[in-house]
Amino acid sequence: MEHELQSLEIEAKEQLTQLNDNDQLEEFRIRFLGRKGRFSGVMRQLATVSPEDRPRLGQLANGVKKKVEKLFEEKFISLQTVSETGDRDDFGPDLTLPGRCPVTGKLHPVTQVMNEACEIFEQLGFSVAEGPDVETDHYNFEALNIPAHHPARDMHDTFYVSESILLRTHTSPMQARIMEAQQPPLRVIAPGKVYRCDSDITHTAMFHQVEGFLVDRDISFADLKGVLTVFLREMFEQELPLRFRPSFFPFTEPSAEVDIACVMCNGAGCRVCKKTGWLEILGSGMIDPEVFKMVGYDPELYSGFAFGLGIERIAMLKYGIDDIRLFYENDQRFLSQF
Ligand SMILES: [Zn+2]
Repeated sequence: MEHELQSLEIEAKEQLTQLNDNDQLEEFRIRFLGRKGRFSGVMRQLATVSPEDRPRLGQLANGVKKKVEKLFEEKFISLQTVSETGDRDDFGPDLTLPGRCPVTGKLHPVTQVMNEACEIFEQLGFSVAEGPDVETDHYNFEALNIPAHHPARDMHDTFYVSESILLRTHTSPMQARIMEAQQPPLRVIAPGKVYRCDSDITHTAMFHQVEGFLVDRDISFADLKGVLTVFLREMFEQELPLRFRPSFFPFTEPSAEVDIACVMCNGAGCRVCKKTGWLEILGSGMIDPEVFKMVGYDPELYSGFAFGLGIERIAMLKYGIDDIRLFYENDQRFLSQF
């Protein structure tokens, strides 16, 4: 019986190496490992050997069987791989199989929404300007009518680098920088990263804003409404009712927060809009004459509006994402959906 097991192992190995398709492999399985196969035959002989030899021979037989089973599995896998890659001489690649798409990198959803926002405003004649992330207290606050000790500073949770240097808390400093350097008419958007010492399900310490402003003669609140209506309609690809709520920002007067009808429930009321049917989407207003005076514009001659919107907020509403932190965890499964 020992001899028989040895020759069975050698034979099985030899036959396996010569196999080259699944039918032959199945035949092999039945012949060697099947219920009426060679192994079962040898195992039946165990009953006839002497009781003292039985444990040793049983162990030997099991060992050989395991080895052959393992070789069988390896052959099975290699045949699968060969048929998938078509790497064989006797039958070429299967041209009817769908092609495999290589995995390509994509732009981050925040970048996509940012680019889209810039494109919409560019179509409306705005130019794009980018400024420094590390900003002076002057441009971040003073020039925007937020002097030291102004209560509005408390709302900003600022990261200070030194007493007069900070990480910008909004993209509005670009308003002051550009107005200082250029004369109206101006139509500019300033996209970029902003920083606040704040973190929870709807806030991260770094996020993205687009600041926009327009300065010219005879600019009114109606112009602001027009630009924002077009922007939001293009961004959400639907006609959305807008609501302007009186608000306060130090650098605009009057100021308004803009709500859109909830994109999740169309204004019927749901969890996202807290049953109100409205979603707060951006802040805006007519540029405060004090801001104009600081950059040397004549507020009697010029008027303008400004607005600021959070890109993550828009991306969350556009794609129905309920936790802002998902944007920054770099989970490939999340990111590949956009
Ligand atoms: Zn809703």
